[in-house]
Amino acid sequence: MAEILRGIGVSPGRAAGPAFRMARPPVLPPPAPVTDAAEEIGAATRALAAVAGHLERQAATAREGEARDILEAQSFMAADVTLRESVEQAVHSGLAAAHAIDAACAHHREALLAAGGYFADRAGDLDDIRNRAVALVLGLPMPGVPDPGHPYVLVADDLAPADTASLDTDTVLAIVTEKGGPTSHTAILARGLGLPAVVACRDATGIPDGTLIQVDGVTGEVEAGIGEDAVAAVRREAEAARERAFTSRGAGRTADGHPVPLLLNIGSALDVRPGAAEGVGLFRTEFLFLDRHDPPSAEEQVAAYTAVLRAVPDGRVVIRTLDAGSDKPLPFLGLPEESNPALGLRGLRTGRVRPEVLDTQLDAIAAAARACGAEPWVMAPMVGTVGEAAGFAERARGRGLRRVGVMVEVPSAALQARRLLEEVDFLSVGTNDLGQYTFAADRQHGDLADLLDPWQPALLRLVAMCAEAGREASKPVGVCGEAAADPLLATVLVGLGVTSLSMAAASVPGVREALGRCSMARCEANARLALSADDAVAARTAVTDAMARAVPERAAT
Ligand code: PEP
Ligand code: MG
Repeated sequence: MAEILRGIGVSPGRAAGPAFRMARPPVLPPPAPVTDAAEEIGAATRALAAVAGHLERQAATAREGEARDILEAQSFMAADVTLRESVEQAVHSGLAAAHAIDAACAHHREALLAAGGYFADRAGDLDDIRNRAVALVLGLPMPGVPDPGHPYVLVADDLAPADTASLDTDTVLAIVTEKGGPTSHTAILARGLGLPAVVACRDATGIPDGTLIQVDGVTGEVEAGIGEDAVAAVRREAEAARERAFTSRGAGRTADGHPVPLLLNIGSALDVRPGAAEGVGLFRTEFLFLDRHDPPSAEEQVAAYTAVLRAVPDGRVVIRTLDAGSDKPLPFLGLPEESNPALGLRGLRTGRVRPEVLDTQLDAIAAAARACGAEPWVMAPMVGTVGEAAGFAERARGRGLRRVGVMVEVPSAALQARRLLEEVDFLSVGTNDLGQYTFAADRQHGDLADLLDPWQPALLRLVAMCAEAGREASKPVGVCGEAAADPLLATVLVGLGVTSLSMAAASVPGVREALGRCSMARCEANARLALSADDAVAARTAVTDAMARAVPERAAT
């Protein structure tokens, strides 16, 4: 009998297939005396060889490029003679196979970290080898993202940004996690990859591997134990939806023709889908910096920014400078331990301790702009004061970058929107963080999802203040938080006076369609309804009901 679990739908779409869980790293059993050293060495060596072989096969089938290079290097590492020798030594010193692998990897890990740079970055790869080999020796499930050899639904306790970023979208059909909230980075990356996702789904990791499940990324419903027919029906429907998304084109505008540029949120040039939108509204540059012990060099940065500018030759490209700290820790910054990192050194504030990192990044953006003859817009995250905005604008303009803006992610910035627009050329409202800081609710906290709901009237009131300031100054005020990806809420944001909306490519067709069905007057009426509601549920219900009652409006041709 099918069982229904409920979580929060965070990335639209439906998918169905067998569930496979992301296994946790294996836990070592208590040490036991070694009775047959040769047998232990044999078990450990066979496990390392199997891991090396597996990685080699993965490399052979991976697409050419970085992923393949990493897998090849990792497979050499697992087959390395010195690693095997260290394992043998560890067995001779009295450790059984699993403990010997653990000790040998720990030893080599130290050496990699001490060598720094590229080598230190490989420490994580060695941890992965250790976890796989130990799991094999102990007969435990293989840790990390599963690789069953066919399409599946990934079920996990939670995913690190690096796990999600490296997912193979040809085999992963959808994501279900027990932790995470609507604005967590798992949710954002899933939307970026166009994968349906449900987070905060209690007991999901209790679903046995291979169980057929269906996932609804809008309602948050996960049905486990369905039949083959249901899987086939969902797949047909998902295919048709993908087809519609591919064919949906054109500029964003209301039914009576008010243009509302629809832009993309991206992490790299790979996320740019030509023709899918009118430009890039948020280039999250921190994905270039994740999981590294040294910052990317100026040349590497210039190449990454150039790739994006070239991929969008005619449209707007808004590059956000490094947004590090809190839920996006960047080891190389060497930030101090903080008891409350979301309220600490993050976003633009990291420039207080490492100003040279921002300077190098602005230099690289300016160099990329010159190389492409482009004029990117550049903006800083987590700006809290007029002084911070003015300081950032001075640094950017000093390098020849002419369109300078700031993100509104903390209430202080929204309250000062008018003054901020005297210093900068545009605002971009990050509703994910603005919701977190307005409601004092951690954006990763699944149990506080109601407070983080972007329909919260208090959040919308802050957006309205920014839009009003933009109207007075005749300067653009966009939204690039996840609120912009909700088709109905998009009509409210436009009614509040927001001038552009930026979202993952998968969300563009739905938003384009919703705007095309509403005149500006109706968007404004929706905005009034949402603002006057008492809470998020009431706001959503009021606008949904009004739209259901309304006479359809003709899209402008
Ligand atoms: C936001 O906070 O709304 C935003 C767009 O930034 P990020 O999600 O990357 O923190
Ligand atoms: Mg943010």
